[in-house]
Amino acid sequence: MARAVREILLAIGEDPDREGLEETPARVARAYRELVRGSREDAGSHLRKVFAEGGDEIVVVRGIELYSLCEHHMLPFTGVAHVAYLPADGRVVGLSKIARTVDTFARRLQVQERLTRQIADAMVEHLSPRGVSVVVECEHACMRMRGVAKHGASMTTVAHRGAFGGDAALRSEVMALLDRGGR
Ligand SMILES: [Zn+2]
Repeated sequence: MARAVREILLAIGEDPDREGLEETPARVARAYRELVRGSREDAGSHLRKVFAEGGDEIVVVRGIELYSLCEHHMLPFTGVAHVAYLPADGRVVGLSKIARTVDTFARRLQVQERLTRQIADAMVEHLSPRGVSVVVECEHACMRMRGVAKHGASMTTVAHRGAFGGDAALRSEVMALLDRGGR
């Protein structure tokens, strides 16, 4: 990877041997390995420890920070994920496990829509909840830096599963909870 970065430096007309760039290929290689470390991890592994001790009320986790790389430009997109689910038979997971699941899916080459679906599908697979909704709000460096969108424009993607997909009243209830901070 460091060799490839050196090629990029040459291609953009830089001198990879000048002071300041000497260590750059190795640094970029280390940084990218970290940014895509989730590709080598099973995101669902965080959700295996399920407790059957929850109630049957909606659980809302808001503002899970995420850092990802868009697969079209290999530039960062960053923002937050909000996850709500309606447990079945009291099956719940620790809040930090949901955050780790988001992180593992984010640390790959991604598109925001797929990231959103993957989080929802992992919750379905491991918790079999009655419903899941995932909202992801991110700003994309490839849009902001290239002047395609106005500064600060963000993208919101949503995935509903189970009862939150099929039941309009439940869906608006869960979207209201996700909007106003679950209070
Ligand atoms: Zn992009």
